[in-house]
Amino acid sequence: MEDNLEKIISLAKRRGFIYPSSEIYGGLAGFYDFGPLGTELERNIKDSWWKNMVWDREEVVGLDSAVVFNPKVWQASGHVDNFTDPLAECKACHKRFRADHLVKDQAEEGKLDEHGAYDPDDIDEIARAIEKINCPECGGELMPPRQFNLMFKTFIGPVEDTEARAFLRPETAQGIFINYKNILDTQRLKVPFGIAQIGKAFRNEITPRNFIFRSREFQQMEMEYFVKPGEDEKLFNFWVQERKRWYTEELGMDEDKLRIRPHTKEELAHYAKSCSDIEYKFPFGWGEIEGIANRTDFDLKKHQEFSGTDLRYFDDVSKEYFTPFVIEPSCGVERILLAVLCGAYTEISGGRTETTKAAKELEVVMKIGRKLAPVKVAVFPLVRNKPQLVEKSRQVYELVKGNFACQYDETGSIGRRYRRADEIGVPLAVTVDFETLEQDDVTVRDRDSMKQERIKIEELTNFLKEKLQN
Ligand SMILES: [Zn+2]
Repeated sequence: MEDNLEKIISLAKRRGFIYPSSEIYGGLAGFYDFGPLGTELERNIKDSWWKNMVWDREEVVGLDSAVVFNPKVWQASGHVDNFTDPLAECKACHKRFRADHLVKDQAEEGKLDEHGAYDPDDIDEIARAIEKINCPECGGELMPPRQFNLMFKTFIGPVEDTEARAFLRPETAQGIFINYKNILDTQRLKVPFGIAQIGKAFRNEITPRNFIFRSREFQQMEMEYFVKPGEDEKLFNFWVQERKRWYTEELGMDEDKLRIRPHTKEELAHYAKSCSDIEYKFPFGWGEIEGIANRTDFDLKKHQEFSGTDLRYFDDVSKEYFTPFVIEPSCGVERILLAVLCGAYTEISGGRTETTKAAKELEVVMKIGRKLAPVKVAVFPLVRNKPQLVEKSRQVYELVKGNFACQYDETGSIGRRYRRADEIGVPLAVTVDFETLEQDDVTVRDRDSMKQERIKIEELTNFLKEKLQN
């Protein structure tokens, strides 16, 4: 399984899904660039989320807030004081590690006497455990851990002093809270209602790892759902189920590879009453792809206190003011994208096309769902040394290309071209052959069933549209 991740990383780079960032300068740890196919896939994931969360729901609206806020936002939210991870540094090689991860790994291997559960925010508890652990890189002694704030700092204007210090947002959620009043005043919404946002967030992770799973720059898709206190638990449970449904029914993820994991009391963030993660079974183990949290009225009350602005809600029915509770489904685009790639990666030994069978090659098929596939349709001439076939193929390509993400390919044998299309998960391949010239029809091959059908060119676009629906 671990090997699969290496193969997926290699394919992702080779075929243009994901590149290490700044690669010509040796890269930059924890940052990635999305290539042509990664960009399409990412857009399809975001579009599906936006449709499901915003367009399909009357009571949910969208937002696109700034990345840099007034720094007081992060004091109010608790991020300046609490958004930390414990860092341990080696006295000998000076490598830095997540102290809580070191403790957890050692505890899982049974090398510590301590029981598995401990409080990752309790630095003293971690410090006691760290005394018994050596540097995993060189075996050297570790310094006592200290809390490290994960927010990226920057400065506003020409003077770099504490007055001008600001942060890149470590979550998109606060952009929603600080616009809650604007939206309430301009949008005629009544509780329960939601504000959804997709955007970049930045965390200065001590140890980015597992490819794009834990990176320093990433995209979040978050929705804050404002509810009447007392209705929060019911709506929290609703959103946990509703969000899981999106992964299976809309993204087509395998039910067996998803699970809901409620947080223990020790794990809960400082603002949360309850939280459940939706986890995906990655090659490196179960990992969170979404968290659904009951943030209570913590954020609105804090912003009310720090800003001095009244953020209460007036209920027309009961004629009362109250501060809404907030249910937050929050997920990471890159983590979902990685889960999609891992779920799609399929090796077929001995091949399945004429060419790969003859060569007894291992063939890779990315079985990415039709809605998410970065390229929907590939168009090939059967051979490229017949000008009439090439010309006809170009006409077919021009006919369908405006409707879907589409590729034209005439390089190499037809078998090679099928194989290349399979490797990036193209669901439908259209081949123009000699019969096409006489009958004006083409062959459409389905990636998953391998079924081939002859379709009249005039019916082709509608046929492809229909096939891509399900
Ligand atoms: Zn060391």
